[in-house]
Amino acid sequence: MKLILLGPPGAGKGTQAQRLVDKYGIPQLSTGDMLRAAAAAGTDIGLRAKAIMDRGELVPDDIMVEIIAERIDQPDTARGFILDGFPRTVAQAEALDKLLESRGISLDAVVEIAVDEQELIKRIATRAKEMGGSRGDDDATAKRLEVYRKQTAPVSEHYGAKGMLRRVNGMGTMDEVTALIDAHLRPLVEA
Ligand code: AMP
Repeated sequence: MKLILLGPPGAGKGTQAQRLVDKYGIPQLSTGDMLRAAAAAGTDIGLRAKAIMDRGELVPDDIMVEIIAERIDQPDTARGFILDGFPRTVAQAEALDKLLESRGISLDAVVEIAVDEQELIKRIATRAKEMGGSRGDDDATAKRLEVYRKQTAPVSEHYGAKGMLRRVNGMGTMDEVTALIDAHLRPLVEA
């Protein structure tokens, strides 16, 4: 099973990705996690990425494509993978198309968890309060949502035009969203 999970920040992508890992036994390739690990390790790319991430902006496409190409080439992706947080721009989606094609890999599905913006703002504010967030965090959150709207939302259209997009309503509980995703993926496994 080779999947892309799309959705705005706060849509519950990480939780759903983890459930898919458990269900299908395939790795979650989270570019956010990879960048945070690189920052914690103090690598050159990691340190450059950290400043960009703290502002809620996007790390340049060429760096992201290189990171994901290296990760997809690891042997644990042979049976499949869940891309979480990538692609985040149309340029990344186009680069991914080429990368997969050159390796003879085809995607099974692109699942988008759709949540309306008012609900996202509420969820993110609740989470920030629980974690004792600062004003700077609020600014980064607003920036993240704006970046999503402008740069990442068009990625859905990229896959929609290819007839690959499966949109699920992300407004319900985590379990309800899991069930909706499952309804899309089960037929692919049984096919
Ligand atoms: P995430 O954990 O997916 O929300 O990612 C955290 C941050 O990492 C994002 O706000 C971006 O700054 C950066 N990032 C993660 N994935 C990408 C990507 N595919 N392209 C650009 N920046 C990314």
